[in-house]
Amino acid sequence: MKRLGWVRGGLCALVAAGAPVEPVMAQDGAQDGAQNGAPTAAQRADALLRHMLLQDQLALVFSRDGGGFGAHAIPRGALGSAAFLLPPAHLGLPALEETDAGLGVGDPRHVRTNGPAVSLPSGLATAGTWDVAMARAGGAMIGAEAWRNGFNVLLAGGADLTRDPRNGRNFEYAGEDPLLTGRIVGQTIAGIQSRHVISTLKHFAMNDLETSRMTLSANIAPAAMRESDLLGFEIAIETGHPGAVMCSYNRVNDLFACENAYLLTKTLKQDWHYPGFVMSDWGADHTTVRAALAGLDQESSGDTIDARPFFGPMLVQAVQAGAVPRARIADMARRVLYAVYDVGLPEHPPVITPIDAAADTAIAEQDEEEGAVLLRNRGILPLRRDAHVLVIGGHADAGVISGGGSAQVVPIGGNAVPADDKALPWPGAPVYFPSAPLRAMQALAGEKLAYDPGTDPARAAQAARQADAVVIFATKWSVESIDSPDLSLPDGQDALIAAVARANPHVVVVLETGNPVLMPWLESVQAVMQAWYPGSGGGQAIARLLYGAAAPSGHLPITFPRAAAQLPRPDIAGVRANTVFDVQFHTDQEVMYDEGSEVGYRWFDARRRQPLFPFGFGLTYTDFRMGDLTLAASGHDVVARFTVRNVGPRDGVAVPQLYVTLPDGGGRRLAGWQRLTLARGESQQVAVTLEPRVLARFDDAADRWRVPAGRFQVRLATDAADQGTVREIALAGWTMAP
Ligand code: BGC
Repeated sequence: MKRLGWVRGGLCALVAAGAPVEPVMAQDGAQDGAQNGAPTAAQRADALLRHMLLQDQLALVFSRDGGGFGAHAIPRGALGSAAFLLPPAHLGLPALEETDAGLGVGDPRHVRTNGPAVSLPSGLATAGTWDVAMARAGGAMIGAEAWRNGFNVLLAGGADLTRDPRNGRNFEYAGEDPLLTGRIVGQTIAGIQSRHVISTLKHFAMNDLETSRMTLSANIAPAAMRESDLLGFEIAIETGHPGAVMCSYNRVNDLFACENAYLLTKTLKQDWHYPGFVMSDWGADHTTVRAALAGLDQESSGDTIDARPFFGPMLVQAVQAGAVPRARIADMARRVLYAVYDVGLPEHPPVITPIDAAADTAIAEQDEEEGAVLLRNRGILPLRRDAHVLVIGGHADAGVISGGGSAQVVPIGGNAVPADDKALPWPGAPVYFPSAPLRAMQALAGEKLAYDPGTDPARAAQAARQADAVVIFATKWSVESIDSPDLSLPDGQDALIAAVARANPHVVVVLETGNPVLMPWLESVQAVMQAWYPGSGGGQAIARLLYGAAAPSGHLPITFPRAAAQLPRPDIAGVRANTVFDVQFHTDQEVMYDEGSEVGYRWFDARRRQPLFPFGFGLTYTDFRMGDLTLAASGHDVVARFTVRNVGPRDGVAVPQLYVTLPDGGGRRLAGWQRLTLARGESQQVAVTLEPRVLARFDDAADRWRVPAGRFQVRLATDAADQGTVREIALAGWTMAP
């Protein structure tokens, strides 16, 4: 097929003017299911398409509200979820039952009486494991639960990069680095789809703020976007082969993401050869012809949330008027069919069956155990089991907090901290999973542990005087559609920690937050553990880490700044608007992402700023020594070889990281890592092939990746700020297809 001629801005301009764009047809994907001469997903899609009338094809490009929203009735046959699509019966295709979200199966209207579900910890915890096998196992768990609850599409796969550590949805995503994000989210998707449930990859793209998410334009040079946010999506697609990509609410360089041909057609379908379909986020489609020509393949919940049902009768009219070619409709349908066959939906229809809550919670618990990050330890952890410990705050006697919005999983057994009457219909009130850290700690260390709710700092401090050690649980709720105006712990928790630390020098702080927070009390406490949102098995995981039944092994997937002034944008414009509605639709503002691809730690490095805790950082209960770094280029592969030895007192997990600095400078970039379990005294030789696109710049004019000629610095380090060991390698330079 003829390639689209691309000049900077050209395609966007064409589409904006309403001119037809030649669609890029779906091609065979890597996960095509063809074995032993059986037809591939693409062949099966083509075969069915030949027998489909236009109206059959159009039926596949428009989903309805599945009963999950507002006062709408649940359509016949639907389970009550985010969306439902019933193909014409004669096609013999399964209905698409689509449910949220990325941490587990949601039930926002509490309509599925038989539908309990287990929640993984937040996406930042899974990314904090740096463990692709763990990500896959978590994905397989939530995929299987979706299937057992009757769903065959899971609206998972959040992969927007952390450009702002106050973004209310960072907890759903995988942090600030494109390579880590792409691999972790990609494996989660692969796990979900291994259970015959289509996963989305979302929100494509640059949905990096919730403030004004419905209106803002994320403005960024295309090349910089390729090297950052889009690289994360690209790697997630290669790794996980998601059946669907969800385009986002926001605009990107002025055009709404769901009618942005640069994103949907040029990048996703043409350059990345993506064979699946693009579905809109709920309320993210604004047009018929523009969206169809730009590459949107399916309007989500189109009867309910978008201003009009753009891909319903309006699309029929557009086809009849010749404004949207029939071939484009066929392509939309073909992409939906491709995903349905590729993931094996017809052969493996969901069977509503009970979940194994205990087994699934064990997976969630393991994810948290691996992903919680020990940020500081001045010898107090692991806690002694004979110590008299006072536990304070965070409702640790009842459960662990979770992030809110469409990613919310309803706890089995209900909210452990019942919401008060003041909870808004959206986004509600904080939900706690009934996995109480206090109970789990008592199970390990006995009933002698005391608890104080932390509501009165003076009383808590008084109680702390009697204890051998104090563990304070601090929480901060994050929720879809609202960013935090600041990086501080709310509700006087900083003052509580400071007061308790004045009363007792042996303080451990456990942070249950969906983002980094500032720690004005850091120098007065002995240990800090970042537990994120710990999920259904969180209390147990935290207790095991605190008492050393498990060793911490998580590493930060996100930089912890010292102050908002260190960030590219010290303030989020509009974040203090009055209502949730005002916040999302605040203004038509343009957010200038002038830092380009220097996201997170790359920005801190390029600007020589010292964070509070750097990306990649994480302590454990043993020590490692890394050395013998050598670099070798073989063809276009650059391989780093080194040894890691456990030189400390117990078994543990090391996560050596490799950062490159390009010949022309800029911030260092994560190019590879390895997660290694090493017994005490054990040493291992490791070889890591560096990701070539991290060595490259995207050359917009040439429309190619270009590895520049010159000397590259490669750093073997424990985190993004560690000086580590540096070696140089000279590369001749080469180019790669986009
Ligand atoms: C969110 C999506 C979600 C969808 C359906 C939207 O508001 O942005 O992530 O999948 O709703 O609930």
